[in-house]
Amino acid sequence: MAKINQNFLKLPGGYLFPEIGRRVRAFSAENPPMPLIRLGIGDVTQPLVPVVIEAMTKATAEMGVKETFRGYCEETCGAYDFLRFAIQNDYRARGVDIDDDEIFVSDGAKSDCGNIGDIFDVDNVVAVCDPVYPVYVDTSVMAGRAGDYDAVNQRWTKLHYMPCTADNDFTPAIPDKKVDMIYLCFPNNPTGAVATKEQLQKWVDYANAVGAVILFDSAYEAYITDPAIPHSIFEIPGAKTCAIELRSFSKTAGFTGTRCAYTVVPKALERDGANLNKLWNRRQSTKFNGVSYVIQRAAEATLTPLGKAQTGETIRYYLRNAQTIKKGLAEAGLTVYGGDNSPYIWASTPSGTDSWSFFDKLLKEACVVTTPGAGFGPSGEGYIRLTAFGDAQATEEAVRRIQGIL
Ligand code: PLP
Repeated sequence: MAKINQNFLKLPGGYLFPEIGRRVRAFSAENPPMPLIRLGIGDVTQPLVPVVIEAMTKATAEMGVKETFRGYCEETCGAYDFLRFAIQNDYRARGVDIDDDEIFVSDGAKSDCGNIGDIFDVDNVVAVCDPVYPVYVDTSVMAGRAGDYDAVNQRWTKLHYMPCTADNDFTPAIPDKKVDMIYLCFPNNPTGAVATKEQLQKWVDYANAVGAVILFDSAYEAYITDPAIPHSIFEIPGAKTCAIELRSFSKTAGFTGTRCAYTVVPKALERDGANLNKLWNRRQSTKFNGVSYVIQRAAEATLTPLGKAQTGETIRYYLRNAQTIKKGLAEAGLTVYGGDNSPYIWASTPSGTDSWSFFDKLLKEACVVTTPGAGFGPSGEGYIRLTAFGDAQATEEAVRRIQGIL
């Protein structure tokens, strides 16, 4: 009989968003008094920008002509040079030198942040922020790196949790023990916090000192407005010997349904006598056949000056929504975080209300869908997350409704 990976059986029944979906569907079936406004799941709502559509249309036409048709991409791991060079130039514009063969193009940062675990031993100690983007935790469980679930403490026994709360400004403390793989995400999902150069330098120094690897998720770097905040871990001296960076076009250019991302694995990164760039290259070229030509052309277009200008306009639209939510909830008496360099707003629930109860109240009384902080980890209790990815008018209406019930 085929035996299955028992780790999958340890996972809780549903990922957070299916449970939210279940509650929203149940409520919708009761004929809600107003149309629902969704500020819950972090999915974009604005259409792709014109340069992207033009690039896709042109590339699609090329696929219909014998001379320009493309089959399997034979360049590095299914990534065309034109896109890797465009990404390389984008890093250069921020003063970061990355070799083109350190850039691996993929279909998403979600896949990459789970798949990257393939090149690490099962016995590594994984450190995660609490609250956290659930994918880091669930993929660690699937890989057998998380141990067992301790329902009382709501924690996986082998993971090292780094609480991020208002008390520490949502900034994780350097572990007081040795850990091996560290997932960091800045600007942070869900708290909207960012990390300064000085804070990241401490992580890089720690990782180099103990031989850990930082898995730095900068999926939201395009939302940074403060010029002093680094966009990439590779802006920090020493990062190339201890960090892997995960990036995505999803939130930068509205590619959540288009799918394109990339991961940078420096050639200087060695652990356990092995070169991680070579291992990841081997893993990707064996298990992944690349992103379609049409989509890679679309991604390239976002990195041109016109593409930057057009996607920048969309990002500013979402950041204005973030300010609407932040100011509106503060006026309603909630303590509000994030939203300045991030599309996420993290708000304290009124005292004495747990995050699922507050989620239910906002759903049933204001018909606004949010995300309960507890779904991101035990330290998320007492908070809710709202996203700025909605329509501007709907966001204003959602804020008015929330103010009306608080
Ligand atoms: N990383 C973080 C922190 C995210 O919040 C998300 C999506 O919400 C992703 C990665 C996934 O990005 P992608 O759409 O590229 O898979």
